[in-house]
Amino acid sequence: MGSLISEFDTQEILSFLRTLVEHESPSNNKEITNKLGNYLGQHFQQLGFDIEIIENKDYANHILASWGKGDTNILVLGHIDTVWEAGEIEERPFKIEGDKAYGPGVCDMKGGIAQGYFAAKKALDRGLSAQEKSINFLFTSDEEAGSLSSQSIIEKKAQNADVVLVLEPPVSPHGALRYRYV
Ligand SMILES: [Zn+2]
Repeated sequence: MGSLISEFDTQEILSFLRTLVEHESPSNNKEITNKLGNYLGQHFQQLGFDIEIIENKDYANHILASWGKGDTNILVLGHIDTVWEAGEIEERPFKIEGDKAYGPGVCDMKGGIAQGYFAAKKALDRGLSAQEKSINFLFTSDEEAGSLSSQSIIEKKAQNADVVLVLEPPVSPHGALRYRYV
C-alpha cells in the first residue's frame, strides 16, 4: 500500500502547523489562547464535527469536537496551550530547515494537533462510517499549568472511550505511536 500522505498533503499540513504556531497560546493568556481554540474548532466544524465550547474561568475554554454515532468510541486528547509567553514567536519565528520544523510549540504539541486533524480529515475523506465510529477530540487549555480545570473532563470522557490517543510528541525511537490497553 502506498503512502496516504502526498507531497501536496505535506505542504498543507505544514501550512496548518505554521498557522497553529503563529497563533500563540500561553496557558496564562486566556484571551489569545481562546482565539486558537476557536480557530481549531472552526476547522473541525468544517470537517463535519459538532463543536462544544467548554467554558473555563481561569484558563482558555476547552474545545470538544465530536463526530459520528457509532459504538466504537475513540477519544483523541490534545492541549492547545504552550509554555511559551506571548511574543516568543518574534524571537523564534516558525521555520523549516531540512526535514524539521522549528518554532514555539511545534513539538509540544501543535505538531501533534496538526497530525490529528489531518488524520481525521483523511479518514473522513476515505468514507469512515459515522454509524460505526464516534470520534471525540478534546483540546484542553491548561495542560502546561497542570490540567487543573481539565482533568475531571478528561477522566469523564475517557471512561466512555474504547481507545484514547494522545497527541503528545512521542519520546520513543523513530517517533513510533505508543499505546496501552487499559
Ligand atoms: Zn504537551
